Amino acid sequence: DEVLVQVKNIKKYFPIKGGILKRDIGQVKAVDDVSLEVKKGETLGLVGESGSGKSTLGRVILRLLQPTEGEILFEDNDISLLSNRKLREYRKDMQIVFQDPYASLNSKMSVGELIEEPLLVQTSASKSERKEKAIELLEKVGMRASDRTKYPHEFSGGQRQRISIARALALNPKFIICDEPVSALDVSIQAQVLNLMADLQDEFNLTYLFIAHDLSVVKHISDRVAVMYLGRIAEVAPKKSLYDNPLHPYTTALLSSVPSTDVRHRREKIQLSGDLPSPSDPPSGCVFRTRCPQAYDRCSVERPELKDMGAGHYVACHLYDEAKT
Ligand code: SF4
Ligand code: MG
Repeated sequence: DEVLVQVKNIKKYFPIKGGILKRDIGQVKAVDDVSLEVKKGETLGLVGESGSGKSTLGRVILRLLQPTEGEILFEDNDISLLSNRKLREYRKDMQIVFQDPYASLNSKMSVGELIEEPLLVQTSASKSERKEKAIELLEKVGMRASDRTKYPHEFSGGQRQRISIARALALNPKFIICDEPVSALDVSIQAQVLNLMADLQDEFNLTYLFIAHDLSVVKHISDRVAVMYLGRIAEVAPKKSLYDNPLHPYTTALLSSVPSTDVRHRREKIQLSGDLPSPSDPPSGCVFRTRCPQAYDRCSVERPELKDMGAGHYVACHLYDEAKT
């Protein structure tokens, strides 16, 4: 399968300022050496607790944040160091839909203006072309042409997210980062928006990186799933092998709290002890070791790298080294 986006050894560290001189007194390792690829036409689910670095990674991929280190390839072009001016030609290909449709839409702009704005800024489309495109997109996302003249506050959360999606589609992007797009919506609305996104993906040949905080949301929409913990990728696999045969102790714990209707997949709930450690002071060795029920001496001294377990299944855990040798 063709790769659309590839990230290599990405690090994003944020300085911590302190004291009266506001000097750097440490750093938050939000993303710490992540490599990942997103294939053309697929949905890669990216799952982690808040503080795992998943949203930061999404913003780094779009260059909304500058990586501290590492490469970002979009269609084989390294965009990690491009100037803002040079980035412009890629910006239209890469869009983001944010979690909170209340905060992400400018309330002073009409729906038509919101959807047409990217066309106005990035293209030479005429006024009538922009209007036509806005109407077409509104209809694609299940809204009415007459909604153009209304304002965001006149709509529900689910409708606002449809408007955000229409806006994200205005420039015919290839890649969309969906940053928890349904987490703020009522459960009854979530499935509708997810189904819409799946339909639009097929119609417009979109590739999604779909960020979520638990494994149940991404289960239906993803082709592959990556699990993040404290700035690192713990496991990445095709959906079926991740849900049927999770390898990393963290994934196993996450999955044990996803309700399953299939008895074969019912698992005893594994309660993780303790909180997520601070990314400014991550544990030595394996970052998961302070909460891992299977941790042993090697885990505190050596950091596990992602290992290829075959058939596209990768895991970062020493247990699988032991098993192989
Ligand atoms: Fe647990 Fe060790 Fe594996 Fe980390 S490397 S997940 S601490 S067993
Ligand atoms: Mg799909």
